[in-house]
Amino acid sequence: MVKTHSLQSIAYLLVISAPSGGGKTTLCQRLLQDFPNLTLSISSTTRPPRGVEKNGIEYFFLTHDEFEKQIQAQQFAEWAVVYGNYYGTSKRILEEILEKQQSVLLDIDVQGAKQLKVNFPSQCYRIFIAPPNLLELEKRLRNRGTDTEESIQRRLNQAKLEMQEGMNFDSVVINDRFEAAYQELKSILETKLSLFPRQK
Ligand code: 5GP
Repeated sequence: MVKTHSLQSIAYLLVISAPSGGGKTTLCQRLLQDFPNLTLSISSTTRPPRGVEKNGIEYFFLTHDEFEKQIQAQQFAEWAVVYGNYYGTSKRILEEILEKQQSVLLDIDVQGAKQLKVNFPSQCYRIFIAPPNLLELEKRLRNRGTDTEESIQRRLNQAKLEMQEGMNFDSVVINDRFEAAYQELKSILETKLSLFPRQK
């Protein structure tokens, strides 16, 4: 008997990266609501929780020592230092999701995205969410009102580097208007990955 290979049976690592202020978090939340076959990977980090963030929900909050021990023990599928803190994706969490035949949504930075593409070349699909331009990004960072001037400048410099790396991704979506960007994202999942949204 000839074995057919259905695209639907492939579980993907769907990586979404964007400079901070790029609108990535809201786009990811909407994808999770609409696509039943997508599960969010919860990362580990050494940055302290912000506001109402809880351990095990937004992140697993680790100490520097704990994080470095896990690096030594090769427990991360990827990790990186972002704005002075460690961030990483646990191999065990990825495996648990993939075992359930779910695709994994990873909201991670461009360094981590690069590592996953090397380690999982056929399963990893990277989408870069780009701001329309750097002026607009600066405006969004200022409007969000959570960053100091120093932090805004640091994020803008970082964004320039990330936008260069983002051009190597499988797809780039310009987040000019939220709804249009979301529809483009949704259509990439459907056409390139054969992931389908829940029927309303
Ligand atoms: P935040 O501290 O604002 O939640 O996240 C800061 C940056 O770290 C964001 O760009 C986010 O995508 C990235 N990030 C979050 N989790 C991970 C991870 O597991 N690995 C990597 N490489 N980056 C991550």
